[in-house]
Amino acid sequence: MKSRENLTEFDIISRYFLEIDGSEATPSAIALGIGDDCALLSLPAEQLLALSIDTLVAGRHFPENANPFDISRRAVAVSVSDLAAMGATPLAFTLALTLPDVDAQWLEDFSKGLRQAAAVYQLPLIGGDTTKGPLSITLQVHGAVPSQGGLQRSGAREGDCIFVTGCLGDAAAALAMLQQQLSVEGEQQQFLHERFYAPQARVALGQKLLTVANSAIDISDGLLADLGHICKASGLAATLYSDKLPLSDVLQTVVARQQALRYALTGGDDYELCFTAPAEQRTALARYARQFDVPITEIGQLAAGQGVVCLDGESKPLVFESSGYQHF
Ligand code: ADP
Ligand code: MG
Repeated sequence: MKSRENLTEFDIISRYFLEIDGSEATPSAIALGIGDDCALLSLPAEQLLALSIDTLVAGRHFPENANPFDISRRAVAVSVSDLAAMGATPLAFTLALTLPDVDAQWLEDFSKGLRQAAAVYQLPLIGGDTTKGPLSITLQVHGAVPSQGGLQRSGAREGDCIFVTGCLGDAAAALAMLQQQLSVEGEQQQFLHERFYAPQARVALGQKLLTVANSAIDISDGLLADLGHICKASGLAATLYSDKLPLSDVLQTVVARQQALRYALTGGDDYELCFTAPAEQRTALARYARQFDVPITEIGQLAAGQGVVCLDGESKPLVFESSGYQHF
């Protein structure tokens, strides 16, 4: 691939993708990084490799004209969030990038976002592929979990309490704002922008949950849909209480309550964790919430049965026409 600036594929790799080293990442995990036919990862003893891959397509997962710095930091956070939901320790990532043309400024900004997010999550870039075509970004993240396995969707037990981290619904409001369906100004606009483009993958907390939670998932398609996956995999039913859902002050200011609840329950892209744990773990969870400075809110419980319902203040079920984002 040759560009207007006459950069070859190898120039691109060496300028923009070499030495994205995640700064303090465990150097021992990478036996060989970018530059050969394969990268080589050394896995800690008694651990399993946790793998997850995500593709972000322009115009579908982010607006066509999005800032490349925003695109890349979001891409890393979205992928790392899967490691968090598994309780995995991040090791490294690879990047398959398809570009319509080679724009040095675009690549510079994209690389800056990658570097920043790689440092936040201590996740070095160890390889990838660079091709020409419609803009698309695929990241594969690699992590390690204890050999007993990570936090799975199928591990929930009858009677478990349901918890979520952070606040829900901000990313859906942000998307409405970015698509010019919701008008938001000033600091609130900035807050929502960051909530969409820089979600916080809850990695450190996820690792602690390995010992206290029975199941976990990250919220990418909406709480009802994602908790539905836990219920299905575990053969249980969930009851949620709308009064307990954690909503940010900004969300409650920019939209009416019913819309805020709709965003929190059916909007995707928050990348918070939803997990289930026995009631006796409440104290430990409160301690982790303080330790990692991550709000953890109990929002409902699991029982025998199937499906997810959310009850309003009068114990009536809330009904929405769609329970989450569906690709097809
Ligand atoms: P191959 O032909 O063996 O697939 P490439 O020429 O595609 O190798 O890539 C050369 C090296 O650069 C490889 O180590 C590959 O992992 C790395 N690489 C290619 N594209 C990227 C990218 N976008 N980000 C990080 N590393 C990349
Ligand atoms: Mg290749």
